[in-house]
Amino acid sequence: MKVTIDPDKCEGHGRCFGQAPALFDADELGQGIVIGDGSVPVELAEAARLAQANCPEYAIEITE
Ligand code: SF4
Repeated sequence: MKVTIDPDKCEGHGRCFGQAPALFDADELGQGIVIGDGSVPVELAEAARLAQANCPEYAIEITE
């Protein structure tokens, strides 16, 4: 599983890195970014889905 953030949709609400800080971080402008290459360890799959469900801009994509 891998997560990506569409920078054109992200408005920097911060729910992703608030909810799943092991997967997401903020850049210097407060926009969400994925940590590393976005690969999700199996134990963080639920956190990734939660973050996706809670992004108000639908900016997070998950690929299996
Ligand atoms: S929750 Fe969505 S809109 Fe907010 S910072 Fe994360 S990706 Fe961007």
